[in-house]
Formats: sequence, structure tokens, C-alpha cells
Amino acid sequence: MRRLLATALLALPLAAHAWGSDGHQTVAAIAEGLIQGSPAEARVAALLGDMPLTQAAIWADCVKGISPSQGYAYPNPGKYPSCAQLEMPARIAEMADYVKRNDRQCELGLDEDACHKQVHYADIAVQRGRYQPGAVGTRPDDVVGALRAAIRVLQGKPSPGQPNFKSQREALIILVHLVGDIHQPLHVGSLYLDAQGRPVDPDKQGFDRASFTIGGNSFLLDPTTGSKNFHSYWDNVPEALRPRHVDAAWLSEARQIPRDAGHVLDWSARWGSESVVLAATAHEGLQFSPKQGESWQASLPEGYEARAEAIKRQQLTKAGARLAWVLKTVFPN
Ligand SMILES: [Zn+2]
Repeated sequence: MRRLLATALLALPLAAHAWGSDGHQTVAAIAEGLIQGSPAEARVAALLGDMPLTQAAIWADCVKGISPSQGYAYPNPGKYPSCAQLEMPARIAEMADYVKRNDRQCELGLDEDACHKQVHYADIAVQRGRYQPGAVGTRPDDVVGALRAAIRVLQGKPSPGQPNFKSQREALIILVHLVGDIHQPLHVGSLYLDAQGRPVDPDKQGFDRASFTIGGNSFLLDPTTGSKNFHSYWDNVPEALRPRHVDAAWLSEARQIPRDAGHVLDWSARWGSESVVLAATAHEGLQFSPKQGESWQASLPEGYEARAEAIKRQQLTKAGARLAWVLKTVFPN
């Protein structure tokens, strides 16, 4: 769910949450299974209280329902069924408080209207082949930087600025969500196109605002694909990947994902790099029309869906396993 407000779609219901709420909850369910019985499980429970990890996983999307222009109220309860459990006074107050500290305090990126919304992604040109700080589409508070900041806070270090975390509880809630987002390839890697629908490289050719595709949100798909654009196509998870299907077999598969080497604060950049490579793969075989208004028509090649589903499953599994590894690392006892 990205930056649609700025494109005059205020009246429309917002697109599916990134990974859809289902995808985020699948990630949380996997991590929950993998930390069971560890000290991390108790530390997470102490911070979250009666908020289940699967609910914490979608909090960062539900806060988009807080309206700064309406006194940080939550004007449309019921709009997103998945947010229902967060729609009670104490929870809304907690969300509003976070939004107040993460509203206009950062340097806002393209098309963006609030700091807390831009921590969910980066827009690195797929030609970079990795997460490269300073490249077009990166920011200190992009998904890689925001994850690093959340992990720092969970390690008991000071919050580095933006995003602003007032507590370890808040950092944990954002962490659970963003580990999901960074594993959605289109949340990190982006294809930039010229007016004829040909790829361009914004770092080599100079950044032209007109080539920015909002992480694939500007690629319109045929409705028979089940998604209106290429970004939301990747956010959607099929039935088989929903949280209720996280069972013993899936958990044992997730246990095979090794702990990353090196320092935990360097992990998010590595995961981001992996997603840039996968984003390049995700765009293989697509055909684009010339730009029409603000968007391009995109058509998917034969057999695309099975290919995409395999990547989605692999990424959700890695995200769940890696979230568990972060929690076990920051909460060793
Ligand atoms: Zn997100």
C-alpha cells in the first residue's frame, strides 16, 4: 500500500496492505513458531502484552488510518477488516502518538505525504543489483535504515532520529512489519521506464521524475490477473500462503533458513540486496506500453503466476525465519 494519497485517489479505498495483511501475518506466525520456548518469546510477550505478534505485524499499515488533518483521529473505523482488533481507544491513541512523531519530521521522498509511510520501502533501480546507500530511491529512513533503527532500539541503544521510536515496544511492532516488507521484492527494487516504456537507469542517466514508477504501482495490469497493478500483484498472497497454513511442515522448512552471518545491524542491507535481485527477476518477460497519463500498461508472460508464487513462498518463509533470528539475537536471555 503506497503513496496513493498523493495521486488524488483520496476517495478510493486504499490498495491492499503491503504483502496484504495475510502475508504479514504469515511472517509473524512463522516467527512465533520458531521462537517458541526461547527467551525471545518471553521478552516479546512482555513488550506486546495482550497484542498478539500477528496483530503487531499489521499495526504499521493500520496507522495509515490516522488522519493528521483531523487532529490525529482515526476517522474510518471498519474500512480495513484486518485492523478491527486495533480499533479501540487505547490502541488508536498509541497509533496516533506514533504518527505525531513520524509525520513531517523527516525529509519526505517523492509522492509521499508522511514519514511513517516511507519507512516501508526503497525504490532502488534493479540495475544496481544490490542495496546501495545513496543510490536513487534510497533514504536514511527507508526500509533498510528503519529496520536497522528498530533493531538498535531493541538492543537498548538510542533511537537515531527518524523513524522516531519512543519505546522498545514501538520498535518491535515496526520491526515485525518491516521484516515482511523488505522481503517483498517490489518494496526494495524498482524498474524506471521512459515514455516509450523502455527501462532507464536513473543513477547512470540522471534521475527523471517522469521515469519513476512508484515501485510498480504505475504498471497497470489486466483485471484478469486479480490485481490492478504490478505492485499490488506482488503484495497479494494466494490462499496457500495465508497464516492459517503455517503448520509443522512449514515451520520445519523455515528452521532450515540459516542465521545471517555478521552483525545483526548489517542484516537488513543484505536482505534488501537480495530483494533488488529478486525484483529484477520479477520484471523478466514483462512487456510495457508507452506511458499513458501517469502509468504504463504491463502484460505478464506465460506461466508467470506459478513463478511468482514460488518466490512469494520462499520470501515469506525467509522473512519469518529471519524475524525469529533477529528476536533471538536481540533477546538472547
Ligand atoms: Zn508495509
